[in-house]
Amino acid sequence: MLLSQAAPDCQPHTQDFLNQEHGLLIDGSWVAAVSGEKFEVKNPANGQVIAMVAEGDQADVDRAVAAARKAFEGGPWPQMTASQRGKLIWKLADLLEENLEEFAELESLDNGKPRVVAAAADVPLAVDLFRYMAGWTTKIEGSTIPISVPYMPGAEFHSYTHREPVGVVGQIIPWNFPLLMAAWKLGPALATGCTVVLKVAEETPMSALRLGQLIQEAGFPNGVVNIITGFGETAGAALAAHADVDKVAFTGSTEVGKLIVKAAGESNLKKVTLELGGKSPNIVLPDADLSVAIPGAANAIFFNHGQCCCAGSRLFVHRSQFDEVVDGIAAAASEIQVGPGMHPDSQMGPMVSQIQQDRVCGYLESGLREGAQAVVGGHRTEGDGFFVEPTVLVNTESQMQVIQEEIFGPVVAAVAYEDPADLIQSANDSIYGLAAAVWTRDISKGHQFAKKLRAGSVWVNCYNVFDAALPFGGFKQSGWGREMGREAIDLYTETKAVTLQL
Ligand code: ADP
Repeated sequence: MLLSQAAPDCQPHTQDFLNQEHGLLIDGSWVAAVSGEKFEVKNPANGQVIAMVAEGDQADVDRAVAAARKAFEGGPWPQMTASQRGKLIWKLADLLEENLEEFAELESLDNGKPRVVAAAADVPLAVDLFRYMAGWTTKIEGSTIPISVPYMPGAEFHSYTHREPVGVVGQIIPWNFPLLMAAWKLGPALATGCTVVLKVAEETPMSALRLGQLIQEAGFPNGVVNIITGFGETAGAALAAHADVDKVAFTGSTEVGKLIVKAAGESNLKKVTLELGGKSPNIVLPDADLSVAIPGAANAIFFNHGQCCCAGSRLFVHRSQFDEVVDGIAAAASEIQVGPGMHPDSQMGPMVSQIQQDRVCGYLESGLREGAQAVVGGHRTEGDGFFVEPTVLVNTESQMQVIQEEIFGPVVAAVAYEDPADLIQSANDSIYGLAAAVWTRDISKGHQFAKKLRAGSVWVNCYNVFDAALPFGGFKQSGWGREMGREAIDLYTETKAVTLQL
């Protein structure tokens, strides 16, 4: 259902922020790009320019890395106690919370997502992440280890491990959850005492720039967080290849993830963590409560317009229930109010850009050409803005692109199965392994599927449940390492083993 009324304007102070000069945050100052270049940031709901930002490239990345190195090695940051670091991160969370409405508007205007969703999910999750990571600062412990050293009989030792910050970290984030991805990356880096150069997605730089202002207001020392706006092939590639960056943490496509690994390998073998694509299976078992599974499966694919790496894009339903479930999801899809994110009734906004709209529609065309059918949706919407109709595809075959590849849009392919015994194999038949879900009343079956599904997150009778304490990341080509939870802390530290002979 397409909303017709125009969206209201944002609050005056959000507009004031958008109207500002937007430089790069380097060593505590907002500066122009060395090249002097800027680029436009557009509202995907109408294609209009909402701001101009600096176009950072290699020269700016060099400056930012130098600032991060200086802050890591000297000055107040390495002198701070864990507790002081935690206090600063907590303060940042408070400031973010105080400005929740402004951030929700920025996310909506920049990314296209409904303001109400950003206010209920993206911003509170980011606040919570910072608070969770603030708590970790004082709990990053090593251990004491009894050692035997067979070639030194009679010698006595005291050995312990110590976890130290990995160093200067380059972080490259995508456009689907601009603020939240910045929080997932910055939180553990700051908690462990690293310093950061954050390269935000060129489509959605605004909330990270505002966060940069709050980082300064919170009182982080200069150079601890540096923020670069710019393009992937220039600024992003320069960061991944930089010889003075100790770790690169990337979220984005599997294709670019492979480039990051190559750049890391060819430069200084920096540590790499990756959170990449997905093609997540969502399984409705015959004993599922369909009154929960149907809206759950709709949410699994349509949340954030399907622009989620863990979107439930392959739906498996028993043949006996296939029509009922597909019709239910199709009905839910046609009820979704699609419109500008700033519209108070909007439940689904536009794709983030024309490129993304074209990419999603290209997949739809290829699927329909190869014989798939759209029960609902299947097209872009006419007029301004980069909208795509929520779509349910049936009659798909396992070799079709719409089944094999990540569409990153509001498109689910429903597949009928006969024998639940074949399900695990079909569900795991993907190069990806980010997330999976199963709907069942039999909790034992739920656990059995959870054990066998090759995915970093498995949801049973729910979907898209995220928490700062839960690790998130992928098996197979969905990535390396995990974000959030204790595992993120581990991945931002190096272990040092210290041995004293007594
Ligand atoms: P999408 O195709 O959905 O935009 P990408 O993986 O291309 O996803 O982008 C995710 C992030 O990676 C963005 O910040 C983008 O600028 C960055 N990026 C894109 N290409 C490169 C590259 N070659 N090297 C480093 N970063 C890149």
